[in-house]
Amino acid sequence: MIVGQQKPFDEIWEMVKGFKKILVYGCNTCVAICHAGGGKEAEILTSMLRMKATQEGLDDMTVDHAAIERHCEPEFFEPLDEKVKGYDLVLSTACGVGVNFLADRLAGTIPVYPGINTSFYGGVPEAGFFVELCGGCGNCILHLTGGICPVVRCSKSLMNGPCGGTDKGKCEVSSETDCAWYLIVERMKKLGTLEKLFEIQPPRDWSTGTHGGPRRVSLEHIRAYEAEEEKKAALTGEGK
Ligand code: SF4
Ligand code: SF4
Repeated sequence: MIVGQQKPFDEIWEMVKGFKKILVYGCNTCVAICHAGGGKEAEILTSMLRMKATQEGLDDMTVDHAAIERHCEPEFFEPLDEKVKGYDLVLSTACGVGVNFLADRLAGTIPVYPGINTSFYGGVPEAGFFVELCGGCGNCILHLTGGICPVVRCSKSLMNGPCGGTDKGKCEVSSETDCAWYLIVERMKKLGTLEKLFEIQPPRDWSTGTHGGPRRVSLEHIRAYEAEEEKKAALTGEGK
């Protein structure tokens, strides 16, 4: 899941205080699970903004809230499209993907500002605790590392074993952080696959990462199917 945290309230206020009609727009998927930007959090943030507006004497500021299931797929927006058009600012509490997606969709007609800081892709080992587990590098090597990601779990993203700073299983960056390569070796010992680490690997291909512009995944069979369905619907007049 994508993990995020709400921006500090003062920072949000500085962003929004010049607007008259604001919609706080929550997303009920990942950011709801991490209690940062779901419908409930959007509602609470709305109340806080209303109170602040009253304190500041901004009687002409209106703040409303809404939420949809996902801010990264068009069909979820459709029921609220008309409602959104009535505002002069959308404060989205979706992750950065959702903010980008909505801003593209509104195409410069209404500004979309971020209400949360998107942090990482992570898991929830226990309630209220989130940990980064994947960096979306586009070239997964977990089969070579016992299921432990050196890209994000090693502070230096080392690919060939630990640096000289590893100390009794902890990372030199922080004594509270496990050394990923210590974890990898221990895991692979347990799995009985330690000898795999001695195999020479080709140099890591980082070109699948984030430095070559936005990455895309295109499922041609699904796109072809959708295009065919649209063609059929146009011929039969369905969906008009
Ligand atoms: S190797 Fe890449 S894809 Fe696999 S978990 Fe790590 S960052 Fe994610
Ligand atoms: S101590 Fe371990 S986790 Fe930390 S940077 Fe070195 S190899 Fe990576």
